[in-house]
Amino acid sequence: MSILSHRIENLQESATIMMAKLSRELKAKGIKVIDLSLGEPDFDTPLHIQEAAKKAIDEHYFKYMPVSGYLDLRQYISEKFQRDNHLHYAPEQIVVSTGAKQSLVNVILSLVNPGDEVIIPAPYWVSYAAMVQLAEGVIVEIPTTIAQDFKISPQQLEAAITPRSKVLLYSSPCNPTGSVYSEQELHALAKVLAKHPQIIVVSDEIYEYINFTDKHASMAAFEEVKDRVVTVNGLSKGFAMTGWRLGYMGAPLAIAKACDKMQGQFTSGTCSISQRAAIAALTGTMEPTYAMRDAFERRRDLVLEQLGTIEGMILNKPEGAFYVFPDVRAFIGKSYEGTIIENVDDLCMFLLNDAHVSLVSGAAFGDSSCVRLSYAASENDLREATKRIKQYLEMLR
Ligand code: PMP
Ligand code: GLU
Repeated sequence: MSILSHRIENLQESATIMMAKLSRELKAKGIKVIDLSLGEPDFDTPLHIQEAAKKAIDEHYFKYMPVSGYLDLRQYISEKFQRDNHLHYAPEQIVVSTGAKQSLVNVILSLVNPGDEVIIPAPYWVSYAAMVQLAEGVIVEIPTTIAQDFKISPQQLEAAITPRSKVLLYSSPCNPTGSVYSEQELHALAKVLAKHPQIIVVSDEIYEYINFTDKHASMAAFEEVKDRVVTVNGLSKGFAMTGWRLGYMGAPLAIAKACDKMQGQFTSGTCSISQRAAIAALTGTMEPTYAMRDAFERRRDLVLEQLGTIEGMILNKPEGAFYVFPDVRAFIGKSYEGTIIENVDDLCMFLLNDAHVSLVSGAAFGDSSCVRLSYAASENDLREATKRIKQYLEMLR
């Protein structure tokens, strides 16, 4: 009998983190793997943010702080919501956490009772499903296809809602598809939600600044739903600060207080130095962020151009984040050196072990027809990786 709890025994390992681990292991053996599995900017954190962190050490920010984060940081986040998104979250409605990942788990564990339904448009980010499972909620997936740009329609949302629906959870720009909901599209969803006041919306906007359309839209901006939207964001992606572990949410007061209580038992406030650095990120120049966004857009175009030459692969044009999510079902059932590729997991392992390119299986994101490629890598690596993908896929018979 296992010494571990059912809770952890039943939990899947994060597929993104697992693929990154496997490629690290191959690299340690001297194999030149190009890792396009982990969604992590390859840029350095901008210098003015690094300087603010050094200053925080010099100024001895070494002690525990309020669980939800320093008050001045929460004031700056409140101003950021107002300035960039026209959202009104007072400082006491803001909770700063150890990454947006913790913000999301705080909110799911604070809202979901066993049996409550959490509506998640698929494909979705891997950890959403695991978090709902930990809360013993029931996942209600709304499937989408590449033909609809992986975005749900108002009719699909309406059809998924039941009296047990508690939360709608999605990201825009979306991980893993890169799809971006326009203001009109989100508003149409808000109008559906207006008829179902029991549903809390959790809007994950961590890729806000990696958006190639002219506008980022937030669900909390709509009058119909604004009092029941939790907006999650963080510094990892837009400021290339994955290792600093700083995420935050704006939430209705009761939910913010619940998350503060949860976090007070689990981790307390996040790293003091990262919090001081976050002030520099939120109030300083956005030029480095815009430069990174432009670089990501060029890389997206490069990857689409290269993958577009592979017969059988179906692509759409992602408008944000740094992922492409091609439909690869044409390759399933084919074989390589006598071994059949039974599913997308097999396809990813084949590309990792033979082509030495690490991608993530779409199955982990709720779509078994696709694979995810993160183009947060240098143009040289992207050229080489897409060349290898093409070469190996064309070898399948
Ligand atoms: N949401 C989405 C959609 C993500 O892709 C990620 C991964 N970075 C996170 C949340 C969590 O980010 P972090 O914990 O680094 O802030
Ligand atoms: N969010 C990133 C990804 O999807 C980082 C890994 C993770 O936290 O899952 O690859």
